[in-house]
Amino acid sequence: MRLILLGPPGSGKGTQAQRLVQRYGIVQLSTGDMLRAAVAAQTPVGIKAQGIMASGGLVPDEIVIGIISDRLDQPDAANGFILDGFPRTVPQAEALDELLKKKQMRLDAVIELRVNESALLQRVETRAAETQARGEAVRADDTPEVLTKRLASYRSQTAPLIHYYSDRRKLLTVDGMMPIEHVTAAIDRILAAISDVDAKASKAAAAKRIAKGFNKGAKKGSNKAAKKAAKRGAKTAPRKASKPAAKASKPAAKRTKSTAKAAKTSRKAGKTASKGAKRTARKAVAGSRGRAAAKTRKTAKKTAKKVTKKRAKA
Ligand code: AMP
Repeated sequence: MRLILLGPPGSGKGTQAQRLVQRYGIVQLSTGDMLRAAVAAQTPVGIKAQGIMASGGLVPDEIVIGIISDRLDQPDAANGFILDGFPRTVPQAEALDELLKKKQMRLDAVIELRVNESALLQRVETRAAETQARGEAVRADDTPEVLTKRLASYRSQTAPLIHYYSDRRKLLTVDGMMPIEHVTAAIDRILAAISDVDAKASKAAAAKRIAKGFNKGAKKGSNKAAKKAAKRGAKTAPRKASKPAAKASKPAAKRTKSTAKAAKTSRKAGKTASKGAKRTARKAVAGSRGRAAAKTRKTAKKTAKKVTKKRAKA
């Protein structure tokens, strides 16, 4: 899940981001927290940002864009993230689009926490008191004077992002004036709906891929069928055979040639066989002629004996 939480100072972005971290196991990327850490460590970026932050102004775009770009590359951001306090200007939003494109990451949603400005001063005062009660250092910019300036820069530089993301159909607005639990529940419902849409979209995409695979398989199958038909012989192959089928008819032609050769051989064999038969027949005829002649000779001998006997009696 990759989200942006959008809202003026004191709208509850930090509180909701922490709940999302616990629920979804994704990281909270707060440019405010990163800049405060840089100020505390007195890094070159921290030294540059310190005065600007204390006065309620915005740190230059290139600084925060650089910080976010590095942070997105870290392994814990691979699972998903919530951007809290970034982007804060249209150039930052455009830079983020580029970064995500380069890193092949897709933004799921921008959740705007909409609150009445009149309630913000009270909220920021409560936050400062609670921080003090925990024994932690109160933020230098959590004062009524600085808050007025921060609200002014939100109106002029950050509020245009509402149109920016609504034009890109990424914006989802939640009533940030509700009790914390209700805001959390509303965000949960939004995220559940997004996951549902995503799941349906990936199901549809998978079905499309499978259907595509089937079509390819069917095409391959028809080619196979054509090849089989071609193998059965040129006569049975479809007249308008596809290219592979036409190619496949070559072996069939070869086979026809060899069949013709075999037939010739068998005809030859037939001729040879009939020659032999004729010879046998001739022999048989000759034999029978011989036997008949011998019989005739025997009969002639018998007749001659009978005639001699009759003559002797006479
Ligand atoms: P935050 O904790 O988000 O209220 O931020 C505290 C302060 O850090 C802001 O008033 C700005 O001075 C600075 N800051 C945080 N995020 C940005 C940003 N994206 N662009 C410019 N300045 C920022």
